[in-house]
Amino acid sequence: LNPNQSVDTSAHRDHLSNVDKSGQRIWIYPKVIKGILYKYRSYLSWLYFVVFFSLPLITLYGRPFFLLNILERKFIIFGAAFWPQDFSILVLAMLTFMVFIILFTVIFGRVWCGWACPQTVFLEMMFRKVETLIEGNANEQRKLDAAPWTGAKARKKILKHGIFLILSFIISNTFLAYIIGKAALVKIITDPPSAHIGGLISILVFTGVFYFVFARFRELVCIIVCPYGRMQSVILDPNTVVVAYDYVRGEPRGMIKKNKPQQLGDCVDCNLCVQVCPTGIDIRNGTQMECINCTSCIDACNSVMAKTNRPQGLIRYDSLSGIKNGEPLKFTNRIKSYTAVLAILLSVVIYLIATRSEVETTVLRASGMTYQRDAYNNITNLYNFELVNKTFEPVPFEFRINHKGVSLRLVTPIDYVPADGIAKGAFFITADPKLLTDTRTKLQIDIVSKGIIIDHVKTSFMAPH
Ligand code: SF4
Ligand code: SF4
Repeated sequence: LNPNQSVDTSAHRDHLSNVDKSGQRIWIYPKVIKGILYKYRSYLSWLYFVVFFSLPLITLYGRPFFLLNILERKFIIFGAAFWPQDFSILVLAMLTFMVFIILFTVIFGRVWCGWACPQTVFLEMMFRKVETLIEGNANEQRKLDAAPWTGAKARKKILKHGIFLILSFIISNTFLAYIIGKAALVKIITDPPSAHIGGLISILVFTGVFYFVFARFRELVCIIVCPYGRMQSVILDPNTVVVAYDYVRGEPRGMIKKNKPQQLGDCVDCNLCVQVCPTGIDIRNGTQMECINCTSCIDACNSVMAKTNRPQGLIRYDSLSGIKNGEPLKFTNRIKSYTAVLAILLSVVIYLIATRSEVETTVLRASGMTYQRDAYNNITNLYNFELVNKTFEPVPFEFRINHKGVSLRLVTPIDYVPADGIAKGAFFITADPKLLTDTRTKLQIDIVSKGIIIDHVKTSFMAPH
């Protein structure tokens, strides 16, 4: 309970706001108040949709600009290809991203959830808008659901769910295009269905999942499924900026009664902040895990403050300390240590990406073989090689070995790695035994392209005593 709170609402801690005493779900009909923050979120969502739907369609030199092919472990991020050989960089990048998310959350709370999470953006800015357009505002939706089935109700429901299914189908196709690429998706759509049964099933399964999430499951994703939401209780601290109710100013709450002078705070107990909440909570009870920081209650309360001639910001972005003591944001030790870890991880990722070779070479001595002697009594070792070209241009290459008395001969001539492809083969290394001092001589093989060393590998050469 907030120190100044005049009403004990601590019962909210015993149950979920969208579940009744018998355990049945209470359907939430959030009011939509088009305040300034809602407008900003709307504008941002348009940008978001343009980026989301267009990114997998963009190609660069005939290749996807963005691809997250988890199945083949091949990723193209803004035109740069990452292969399974770059796995360590991707893992580090993901770790860095996670630390960044935690650090960001420590300072700014759940800004991500309210402004950028696909779940919130698609639900509030796409599906909810379609629902409002067809079924009316929150009150009209509630009445429609409670009314007996009529032709008009059936038509509205069929239209709404039909559009939901089409939207889910489009999102599903876009989602798949991120994984398999636009070209493969177009093939699935245009080829006879029998040629791509697996692909078509994937599209239908994704469509079903998206439809279920946005038409039925909705806020339950944030309340009971999302791991990021679950982590809030350990990440947030009193200095974190969250959507917060200023209980110092607001309490004791109470309705305005004409001609009756009252010693009340600024909260007029209109309940509008609860009615607009998509997760059904009352932010006046303090920060709760269900709060996705969507800012709807800020807009709602500001509209009430404007009507009652009170200053804006009774509900606003602020920290608990800020509200309690009027303190500004503090740079705590926890933030300092997260920043340090983030800086180190970021430097390592940048270094690895900057020094990443465009051609990755693997050389292994042929298994089960040691050495042979040729007709001139020279010693030979057989090696297998594999060159992975991470660029979208063919790369000419040759092997060079700078070791006296040692030469390299390809089994099958090959002098380039195809674009975005692999060159495999074998070569012999031959050495004059008089010049070898050891049974295992360390050798360095340079991979040279257009006169420039683009990679090198180290291997050993076996010889008799
Ligand atoms: S409490 Fe406010 S910010 Fe939090 S989810 Fe509800 S309406 Fe959104
Ligand atoms: S909208 Fe503002 S004034 Fe109305 S109940 Fe919520 S906090 Fe109080």
